[in-house]
Amino acid sequence: FQGSIAIHPPAASPSAQALPGVREQFPILRQHSGEQDLVFLDSAASTQQPTAVIDAVADYHRHRHANIHRAVYRLSQAATRDYEQARAIVAAFINAAEPESCLFTRGTTEAINLVAASWGRANLRPGDEIILTRLEHHSNIVPWQLVAEATGARIRVVPINALGELDLDAYRALLSPRTRLVAVNHVSNALGTINPIETLIAEAHAAGALVLIDGAQWIAHGRTDVQALDADFYAFSGHKLYGPTGIGVLYGKRHLLEAMPPYQGGGDMIERVSFAGTTYAGLPNRFEAGTPNISGAVGLGAAIDWLAALDLDRVGAYEQALLAYATERVEAISGVEIKGRAARKSGVISFVVTDPPVAALDVGTQLDLRGVCIRTGHHCCQPLMEDLGVAGTARMSLALYNTREDIDRFADSLAEIVDQAR
Ligand code: PLP
Repeated sequence: FQGSIAIHPPAASPSAQALPGVREQFPILRQHSGEQDLVFLDSAASTQQPTAVIDAVADYHRHRHANIHRAVYRLSQAATRDYEQARAIVAAFINAAEPESCLFTRGTTEAINLVAASWGRANLRPGDEIILTRLEHHSNIVPWQLVAEATGARIRVVPINALGELDLDAYRALLSPRTRLVAVNHVSNALGTINPIETLIAEAHAAGALVLIDGAQWIAHGRTDVQALDADFYAFSGHKLYGPTGIGVLYGKRHLLEAMPPYQGGGDMIERVSFAGTTYAGLPNRFEAGTPNISGAVGLGAAIDWLAALDLDRVGAYEQALLAYATERVEAISGVEIKGRAARKSGVISFVVTDPPVAALDVGTQLDLRGVCIRTGHHCCQPLMEDLGVAGTARMSLALYNTREDIDRFADSLAEIVDQAR
């Protein structure tokens, strides 16, 4: 890719300058695509991992790996300590009252499935209602459809306005004594809308319903205090938080988790097994059947330690400054339309190229040829795409390692692609 055709707007405010020393800690970003450094703008799908996380996982494998919980030898005890230490780090990070209320799962998807299968099947009856929103990821839709089918409960859906924000009046109208649970994302992965979850939770509680927050897209971008929020359940994934794949967290209030039947049966989740009747372990083991992802938990703990040391308020402010700059640059390209204009947004820009029309897939492929990684398609949000009247969008998403130079490379390339299609 030779030269750029776009004229750069004036320099952004100093707050849009890179966080010092951060990008250098991500070895993958030093990788080259042709002549140029990789520009990674798909962090809403998965963030990259800093050396601190890669090293922590390798160190665990080199020095302390063994199966946990069940052995007397010291190596296993060291692995158990690492695993439980990671749980304590998670609990402190989201201000959970105690580590035992933080369950390790494979990710957000499994966390939501756990609540749907365990709490849902035990508590939902025909006529009960679950409120979802048009902004949800498929992983916060399909598990509820499965449990609704099994129990006779009904799903109600909160619509959005033209900006891609939830219609709060419609939400209030849907809440009723029949509402048993509201399941909503903290931030929309497809549009970046930050939902007013404090209000949603308070109003659901006033109606007597529980609330599950899908925090997958928030957790790396701002502070989370599950007690201040009064969230009943809060789910997130390690791989969107600078940690490894295959590890995630379900936070739940202790009294709710304690009353829920096991999700899966197997080793480690029992107190005593007998053909005359099995009794189950207490929290958190009751919901962690089988050998867990020990190194994943270690990596997640390291990722949280690393991120927390950077100060999430500072990280959030930096990402907001980058988002403002990126929005300005995309808006300046004629023929490109941004989808999702919420007043409160996280670092996501979803867009379509309409004049001349260029399919999102082609935009993504052309950007890749220029060393820029973005995502295209329905983003696991097909109901939302229906509302937007598109089959899919192109989506760029930010993380703390992105820079103004990344945005310039992306915007210059996009401008060139649109120009070439004319
Ligand atoms: N919820 C939201 C809002 C997401 O963005 C994602 C992943 O993209 C998920 C849930 C599912 O997360 P995972 O695939 O890590 O289970």
